[in-house]
Amino acid sequence: MEYDTITAISTPMGEGAIAIVRLSGSEAIAIADSIYKGKKMLLEVESHTIHYGKLIEPKTGEPVEEVMVSVMKGPRTFTREDVVEINCHGGIVSVNRVLQLVLNNGARLAEPGEFTKRAFLNGRIDLSQAEAVMDLIRAKTDRAMNVALNQMEGRLSKLVGKLRQTLLETIAHVEVNIDYPEYDAEEMTHSLLNEKLTFVKREVDKILTTAQQGKILREGLSTAIIGRPNVGKSSLMNALVHENKAIVTDVAGTTRDVIEEYVNVRGVPLRLVDTAGIRETEDIVERIGVEKSRKVLKESDLILLVVNNNEPLSNEDENLFEAVKGLDVIVIVNKTDLKQEIEMDRVKELAGQHPVITTSLLHEEGVDLLEEGIAQLFFQGGIESQDMTYVSNSRHIALLQQTIHHIDEALNGIDLNLPIDMVQIDITRAWEILGEIIGDTVSESLIDQLFSQFCLGK
Ligand code: GDP
Ligand code: ZN
Repeated sequence: MEYDTITAISTPMGEGAIAIVRLSGSEAIAIADSIYKGKKMLLEVESHTIHYGKLIEPKTGEPVEEVMVSVMKGPRTFTREDVVEINCHGGIVSVNRVLQLVLNNGARLAEPGEFTKRAFLNGRIDLSQAEAVMDLIRAKTDRAMNVALNQMEGRLSKLVGKLRQTLLETIAHVEVNIDYPEYDAEEMTHSLLNEKLTFVKREVDKILTTAQQGKILREGLSTAIIGRPNVGKSSLMNALVHENKAIVTDVAGTTRDVIEEYVNVRGVPLRLVDTAGIRETEDIVERIGVEKSRKVLKESDLILLVVNNNEPLSNEDENLFEAVKGLDVIVIVNKTDLKQEIEMDRVKELAGQHPVITTSLLHEEGVDLLEEGIAQLFFQGGIESQDMTYVSNSRHIALLQQTIHHIDEALNGIDLNLPIDMVQIDITRAWEILGEIIGDTVSESLIDQLFSQFCLGK
């Protein structure tokens, strides 16, 4: 297949003085060669080699930039097309100059994710891997990147493949019993069917439970800072923003909304959000009442409730505690440098199992403990284990939920003693839906696979 040649700046993850302009397509090498001057012509070099030279303005021969150019011929490339990477040191200005030069000489600016799309179209990766790369492009912290990387390496695909295999075997046995009654196959009894389906359901459930955490890792834990006026909410906000590096990755050439006040606290991405003006409004509970503020607060993944060490607890404070009952809360007793007036016992009682952390934000004390508390709260669910397969893609989540639905239907049918071929319809559907996750949908292939794997026609 032939595609036009696309290009984009693809800065490596993390900082680094090197930036890369990447080209992919049938003309990638020719275009690069037309603006390059080195010992050899790029059209003549071997694949997967790197060359030092100068980029030149082809009309005038005027040198533009010193570069290292990698030449990689398809299909042994990410897109399976010819790929050229122009490495230029220097900042944004020189990179943009190189990009402009490439664009002026026959390449087209890639759409976000287009390199990945080509890898998929050219059969280099499956759909879930392609989507993982898209997530990777948007991933904002190292940990979120790991989730995407796991998926890219095909963990989800493998797992889904295994579950499909189990379903396929189940279907095969049912088919044998229906179509070849004389065939001496093991009878797929209802209880055996039940067992297999329950197994698949449990596995899908397991994947789904990680979905929420996956989403949070990708999008950030939406965090609200609440408390009475003057307790130190803004100070806390500043401390979190200043002590932590803001957004980590930035892949130029892809459009991305800038999310303000997005910080990475020990691997936990926090999105310090202004949920319905909670941060602005100093007294949300008084304004809209406990019940309503609960509703608003529920939309946050994490609530940082700040109280003042230097004052006795007020009604307002008590209302706030009431409003956040049962949510994920960390209580922060601030201004410990001032005389303690707050009733610490009462605070602990109100906090219940929620962590209580003391800070003196004025002196930047206690922020460490708070960060530790946030990390613990989030990772206590075992999310730290890198072995798990996280789904964070909403299309995958929807498909997994549909899978569960059809397996439930099948299990239901078994319970009701429905004819086995009716139960089989739902099993087949579950198999097809799982196939959509890895982009393998055609249902005729079910027949092919049945025959190739179980030799029914023999
Ligand atoms: P907010 O109204 O809740 O956002 O509170 P601010 O963060 O604006 O802080 C209110 C005032 O308290 C400011 O003058 C801060 O400098 C001060 N403040 C914040 N944290 C501390 C602290 O730990 N100790 C003392 N002594 N003052 C603090
Ligand atoms: Zn404030």
